[in-house]
Amino acid sequence: MSRPLIVAIDGPAGAGKSSVSKLLARRLGFSLVDTGAIYRCVALAARRRNLALDDDAALGSLLATLTITFRVEGEHNHVFLDGVDVSQDIRSPENSLAASQVSSRKVVRDGLLDLQRRLALQAGQGAILEGRDIGTVVFPDADVKFFLFADPGVRARRRYEELFEKGKEQPFANVLNEQQKRDKEDSEREVAPLKPAPDALRVDSSALPLSDVVHLLEARIREVVAARSAR
Ligand code: C5P
Repeated sequence: MSRPLIVAIDGPAGAGKSSVSKLLARRLGFSLVDTGAIYRCVALAARRRNLALDDDAALGSLLATLTITFRVEGEHNHVFLDGVDVSQDIRSPENSLAASQVSSRKVVRDGLLDLQRRLALQAGQGAILEGRDIGTVVFPDADVKFFLFADPGVRARRRYEELFEKGKEQPFANVLNEQQKRDKEDSEREVAPLKPAPDALRVDSSALPLSDVVHLLEARIREVVAARSAR
């Protein structure tokens, strides 16, 4: 049997990857692999055990003990760490920064490759993977690749609104500051830095409504699906 169609959606925090990926997965009937949630689980587990986030030996041993699973319930994609739903806990501002830190460690990135690939390959028809290095490292041979980006101010505003809607309001300056730190960590790290794959379609979402971004990506994916079934 042929492997599922692999769609890579990379880009910085706040570019709209999560909302776009969720809608695309639903519209196309594809599975969704939120790779950021996986790094966030590792960060949460490390923080709960008071590990130094740059202690490679401790992080390596930790990885070997963790079980990270996903379950879709209605509209929501829940993440479980060792059987416990941590979907909310992994998204705190402290854990977001910690996720950026642990994700700069080679031992963590290497240790999570297999899980990311397995989750995608066990999908039915297709899988959408959202992250930072899907098109460059996890699936350099993905069938379709996108790099979604937006102006830093626009991205921080979106994140601010999202937190506000959840009743977790933070001063805008803090949101922007945290985003800048994560952007810096993610783009300057030595292993798998955030950068567009040469063959990715780059989409600037700064001035585009969500629905336009979804339509654009969906049209491209459907072209690839059609070309694949014509072969
Ligand atoms: O996408 P999200 O913001 O949930 O990702 C959390 C953090 O995990 C990112 O800031 C990044 O440092 C890391 N990450 C990564 N590679 C991925 C996905 C996420 O390094 N493929």
